[in-house]
Amino acid sequence: MSRKFIVGGNWKCNPASMKEANTLLKEWKKSLPSVDKSKVDVVICPPALWMTTLSPAIEALGMQTCAQNVGKNDAGAFTGEWTAANLLDLNIKWTLIGHSERRTKYGETDADVAEKVAKCQEIGVNVILCIGETLEEREGGKTDEVNKRQLAAVIPKVKDWSKIVLAYEPVWAIGTGKVATPEQAEETQAAIRAYIKGAVSSDVADKLQIQYGGSVSPDNCAELITKPNIDGFLVGGASLKPTFMEIVSKVG
Ligand code: PGA
Repeated sequence: MSRKFIVGGNWKCNPASMKEANTLLKEWKKSLPSVDKSKVDVVICPPALWMTTLSPAIEALGMQTCAQNVGKNDAGAFTGEWTAANLLDLNIKWTLIGHSERRTKYGETDADVAEKVAKCQEIGVNVILCIGETLEEREGGKTDEVNKRQLAAVIPKVKDWSKIVLAYEPVWAIGTGKVATPEQAEETQAAIRAYIKGAVSSDVADKLQIQYGGSVSPDNCAELITKPNIDGFLVGGASLKPTFMEIVSKVG
């Protein structure tokens, strides 16, 4: 089954100013690859404060804007949060949920992640759901168990799988320069797809796009993308550089 590729650029809390963000978008424009839009989608996740200001420039590049996080709440007394409905209201159709930095640095639990996914399903926001194991868990042979646990929390909340993309991001590979080997990523992502097949359905498993994330760069992406269960990338550090366009072009 051929699935459309999807590449995400997760800027996290970067760059240091909106001026630098605009400069980066201008650099991308200069080297914009002519990718086949029917084969690859590109979504960019700027810091929340800049999302709506930068969105027109992102869209002008043929890309979509994606939030890095969303509240599990509706409108109300939730200082510091924003809702899935706020995103749609501003024409932001995507959000990441469950990034490992949210899980480890902000204490988001599997249950929190599941509630956020449920809210996005209710409102109709597309979700890139991030899952993945720590180094200790990998070394302890628990990789598949951890991924299954993180998925099992969310599966009952999903009614429309066409609005879900998975990002398998081993925590030990994020921001470390230690990319998973193509074989490691493929083996784990094949196991994730097999789990979805059993827990949901063959049809959903066949159609579900699974990105790999963790130290993806222009140098290592070409081999990773040849693997049958890798349907794109979620890119952190390398998405803050003009050469991010090389990754987009190698996928597309
Ligand atoms: P990295 O980050 O590419 O810098 O490892 C990936 C991510 O956190 O999504």
